[in-house]
Amino acid sequence: MSYPNTNAPSPDRPDIILPSGQILLNGELVKPRGTDREIDAIDPATGRTIMSFPACSAEDVDRAVQSAQDCFESRAWQQMRPLDRGRLLENLALLVERHREELAALESLDSGKLLAVTRAIDLQFTIDGLRYFAGWASKINGEYVTHNPLVPEDAIYRAYTQRRPVGVVGGITPWNFPIGQAIQKIAPAIAFGCTVVLKPSEETSLTSLRLGELIAEAGFPAGAVNIVTGYGAEAGAALVDHPLVRKIAFTGSTATGQRILAASAATMKRVTLELGGKSPTIILADADLDRAIPGAAGAIFANSGQICTAGSRLLVEAPIYEQVIEGVSKLAADLRIGSPFDADTQIGPLISHRQRARVESLVDAGIGEGADVRAGGCQTDGQGWFYRPTVLTNVMPHMTVMREEIFGPVVCAVRVEDPADIVRMANDTQFGLAASIWTSNLDRAHLLADRIDAGTVWLNTHNILDLSMPFGGGKLSGLGREFGSEAIHAFTEPKAVCMRLEGSDAIW
Ligand code: NAD
Repeated sequence: MSYPNTNAPSPDRPDIILPSGQILLNGELVKPRGTDREIDAIDPATGRTIMSFPACSAEDVDRAVQSAQDCFESRAWQQMRPLDRGRLLENLALLVERHREELAALESLDSGKLLAVTRAIDLQFTIDGLRYFAGWASKINGEYVTHNPLVPEDAIYRAYTQRRPVGVVGGITPWNFPIGQAIQKIAPAIAFGCTVVLKPSEETSLTSLRLGELIAEAGFPAGAVNIVTGYGAEAGAALVDHPLVRKIAFTGSTATGQRILAASAATMKRVTLELGGKSPTIILADADLDRAIPGAAGAIFANSGQICTAGSRLLVEAPIYEQVIEGVSKLAADLRIGSPFDADTQIGPLISHRQRARVESLVDAGIGEGADVRAGGCQTDGQGWFYRPTVLTNVMPHMTVMREEIFGPVVCAVRVEDPADIVRMANDTQFGLAASIWTSNLDRAHLLADRIDAGTVWLNTHNILDLSMPFGGGKLSGLGREFGSEAIHAFTEPKAVCMRLEGSDAIW
């Protein structure tokens, strides 16, 4: 199905193929049986409806979970060679690679992310993620354990551990990185021997539905991967409450993460929660400002600030404070706002009318409390959910703009005086996801990095994700880590096996 051009035509814009709108259930693309309700997919750059897709009910989720459980328990799945599970992911990587341009365009249409970004980042991450975890499938080992019998002369024992897949995984994803997040849940689950039911965000379900079509082609056993769309409070909650789901891998807001953690207690599910942030970008007086100023602007304005690790608090040492604020404000004012499909656009829309209204009300509240606007501070005229890149100064630590995640292109700038002040300000937040430190002094960089409460600290860069590095946060930013070798712990359970050996007298 082709989508008519609703944005300005552009030579850079490839044809967009819309998904059929069918969910992936037990290896087949089907219409849900439990509902005929649908959700409209809205193009955030124009406010126009792209297509609609199913709002699955708890009954549909139950069917998906049951098929994932049947697959998980099947002899074929349990005895599949790890290398062959890896090959399934590699097959999917090849298919995604073949459809890369089309998927990038669909992602841009549905999420408002710049086409240059979905091409270079989102799709690359998706393909890399599939390959990265394909490699892990055959490298999951337990340990040989030296056993200490309580009564030494009693007997000889042999002991070892295995890492067993947790079972059916429920993957629940947000709207800011849709296809990448889908793979962040699906790829490790399959690599480590689990089966999975994915519920993408109702704001951006189209690339996950299209991914379902490619998964149906890639040769996965029926039920290994299921994709159901729908609302969080209905389809998402049904997944969290389902007794056969053994683990929830969630990325989204802190409020939803807290609800999921509480609800998971009933069935004692394993959970990984990748939640919100209020990450500091820290610029020291000795930083190379030619790099630090654009770095600080990129840290907050990339993807219109809709990145969990966005540098939304800018802490600047006093001697360079004015110069940095002026530089970042000028960059903010000069950023070209526009269609994600226009090659000249530097900043696209926010995801929804509701999200823009939220950003606007937080900024207005900050101004009401005394913040000064150095750039932006309002939405744009015309269609689409655009908001101007905004720099606020004269902000106090207690203000809501300084404490809450805004998830929009809004940075709060603060002057800091000395290292102790920097540490205190950086950690004065309920979140602990990420931070960046900009300096030319290696000692200060590493000493400060030690003191910042964050899952990731970048030095002279920001927002660099690497699949081989553990990713996640502390405090209200989440629980557990998903990338790198840490993912083994997220998707498997250790099992201890101990055997008593008889007949040692005869040998000794
Ligand atoms: P959200 O919490 O509103 O929704 C995320 C997902 O949860 C959606 O699929 C939604 O349908 C589902 N959901 C909502 N209520 C549910 C419930 N009661 N039970 C089960 N599922 C439910 O988040 P969002 O607005 O889509 O995404 C933005 C948030 O995600 C921001 O806070 C951002 O910081 C965070 N995020 C974090 C990371 C990270 O890795 N730490 C990455 C990206 C986004």
